[in-house]
Amino acid sequence: MASSENVNVPPPNHVMVLDGQGWIGLVDQMGTETTVVNAARVSFGKLKKEMDQRDVVLVKYLIENHHTSPLEHVVFTFLVHCPLFVRSQWHRHRTWSYNEISRRYTQEDLEFFVPAELREQSESDRQASKASDKIDQEACKAIIREQNAAAFAAYEKLLDAGVCREQARGVLPQNMMTTFWGTVDLGNLIKFLELRDSPHAQVEIREYATAIKQLIKPSLPHVAEVLGW
Ligand SMILES: Cc1cc2nc3c(=O)[nH]c(=O)nc-3n(C[C@H](O)[C@H](O)[C@H](O)COP(=O)(O)OP(=O)(O)OC[C@H]3O[C@@H](n4cnc5c(N)ncnc54)[C@H](O)[C@@H]3O)c2cc1C
Repeated sequence: MASSENVNVPPPNHVMVLDGQGWIGLVDQMGTETTVVNAARVSFGKLKKEMDQRDVVLVKYLIENHHTSPLEHVVFTFLVHCPLFVRSQWHRHRTWSYNEISRRYTQEDLEFFVPAELREQSESDRQASKASDKIDQEACKAIIREQNAAAFAAYEKLLDAGVCREQARGVLPQNMMTTFWGTVDLGNLIKFLELRDSPHAQVEIREYATAIKQLIKPSLPHVAEVLGW
């Protein structure tokens, strides 16, 4: 990506999520499945350039037996455009490295996420939600849009009154979109995907986890097969 390009534009290799309001791009990758195999076999003093059937068996063995250190030699960098509440869940994963757009530096490109489909609270699971035929979708989305407009207007008024960006941003809501870089190795990415592409995870972050699988699967076909992606 050229230095002058807008960070809020998806990179070439990306997947759109949240009905086109969010996206995730794969901006960099170090290593392939051959890297995993070579890391695992270094104790025998061997180095392979291409995978053969024995290597495929080895990859399966490593994953199934949680022998994860060879996986840590493959590293990915993603550019993620998501609502702040998704970012908060994501950043709990401490084995990633993060850098994020700062609302102390910029007041440009403020966007707010409005779900295409509002869900109702699950009765059986306090952290879950489910599809609803009771919610008046258009009326509730109108409430969200009104609130977004009011928050944005308050933010602008504070800036116009001379308040600094770092304090004015306090009136901006959880559904504001943000953009961050996240770098993680394959071993820890697999752990992230187990937790976040799960029925227990919030639907919105789950969409990003599914998109990650789509982005990395072409370079990791055997890992994807073992993990059932
Ligand atoms: C469905 C779901 C619901 C959740 N709900 C809540 C909630 O209600 N409230 C809440 O606060 N959080 C919640 N979380 C966040 C959760 O508690 C974890 O913080 C998050 O999933 C990151 O997991 P992790 O610590 O394994 O990941 P990472 O931080 O990426 O760590 C990966 C692994 O590295 C090791 N590790 C990393 N740092 C340390 C350390 N400092 N000490 C020891 N070992 C370490 C651990 O083995 C850890 O499993 C939820 C997560 C999910 C998936």
